[in-house]
Amino acid sequence: MSFKLTEEQEMLVKTVRDFAQKELKPKAAYWDEHEEYPHENVKKLVELGLTGMTIPPEYGGEGRPLIDALLVVEEVAKACGTTARIVVETNMGVVGALMNHGTEAQKKKYLPMARNGEKPAIAITEPDAGSAATELRTRAEKKGSNYVLNGSKCFITGGGISKIYLVFARFEDIPGAKGIGGIFVEDGTPGFKIGKREPMMGLRGIPETQLFFEDCVVPEENLLVAHGDGFKKLMTAYNGQRLGAATVALGIAQSALDEAVAYTKERKQFGRPICEFQGLQWMLADMHTKLEAARLLLHRAAHNAGYGLPDHMEAAVAKAFTTEAAVQVTNDALQLFGGYGYSREYPLERLVREARMFTIGGGTVQMLKTVIASKLLGMKISQRKD
Ligand SMILES: Cc1cc2nc3c(=O)[nH]c(=O)nc-3n(C[C@H](O)[C@H](O)[C@H](O)COP(=O)(O)OP(=O)(O)OC[C@H]3O[C@@H](n4cnc5c(N)ncnc54)[C@H](O)[C@@H]3O)c2cc1C
Repeated sequence: MSFKLTEEQEMLVKTVRDFAQKELKPKAAYWDEHEEYPHENVKKLVELGLTGMTIPPEYGGEGRPLIDALLVVEEVAKACGTTARIVVETNMGVVGALMNHGTEAQKKKYLPMARNGEKPAIAITEPDAGSAATELRTRAEKKGSNYVLNGSKCFITGGGISKIYLVFARFEDIPGAKGIGGIFVEDGTPGFKIGKREPMMGLRGIPETQLFFEDCVVPEENLLVAHGDGFKKLMTAYNGQRLGAATVALGIAQSALDEAVAYTKERKQFGRPICEFQGLQWMLADMHTKLEAARLLLHRAAHNAGYGLPDHMEAAVAKAFTTEAAVQVTNDALQLFGGYGYSREYPLERLVREARMFTIGGGTVQMLKTVIASKLLGMKISQRKD
């Protein structure tokens, strides 16, 4: 067992760090403030081969293990959280589901799109089915050689930007998880409409929107996983996305800590730099320790996954711990900046808003802790009262 990066990984990290700090960091606040998708950054990611790193070479990717992708995600997130989310979604999530469960035709069609910077969207959440995803109501009805979709989704990241949507739907009206499968809907399909954009708190360079399906006809070859064990397969693939999202939170929190270290060495009160006050030193030490522990949990889960999908329990532990740590660390960093931390002229308030997302999106920490507890207790924890 080694906790050291290989020489090649060190080189990858350095290259991406130099690129991200120089090319992505200067405009990180711009995308959030102007609510504009960073197309110019996507172009650069594609040129550098940072999209589709995990995709096998026969589909145009680099065929790298998950850990390499996480190393890249952290460096990009230290510079720009919004852009890092695009790195995640062109390497994990739908990409992982496709690589593990897609037909040859689907892989040939959609994986090169992700490599070319087209971020696929994943559509699970509905107005009445958030944490209770197994209660979703969007229906997929088989008619001849097509499926007809009816229903709606909300909070879908990339709505209106993405060209392909992996839609979780209920087949044959079978209740619970067993009735859920996943099907691709392409942008522009008749009966598929993008709804209202949610006015979000942070990371506003990527839209979160509603989606509507009104007698939306999708060919049967777009089916990724059928109902039965489809939901389980999709959730297993989603573990990669969870590690990716948590790594964005880690990168954001690490940049907040780096800012705080530099600031406390410069800012003087009572005739000396504030970093000389032991209370603040201990805050910095705690912040560093939390992020180191988070990084180890993430890297362990990714390392064990290799070129495949992470373990459910390891991913839940890593995401729950990291995202809570990121909220604490960004908040503490803001505190160390005093009034300037609260000012929009400094990056801290944005980093706090950005880190806040990750304890919610992609499975709330409460639901992740339910996964952890159910495994610990060796029991399936039922949430329904009826
Ligand atoms: C920025 C952002 C991007 C997102 N992107 C996507 C996307 O691309 N695709 C997608 O499908 N969804 C997306 N989501 C939706 C996200 O997955 C949901 O918001 C999340 O799963 C929680 O669902 P909810 O908002 O309905 O909250 P609810 O499920 O209503 O939960 C409300 C509160 O109750 C708690 N809670 C609920 N049930 C339990 C329980 N049994 N035990 C303990 N606590 C419980 C929750 O943890 C939470 O604190 C996104 C959300 C955000 C904020």
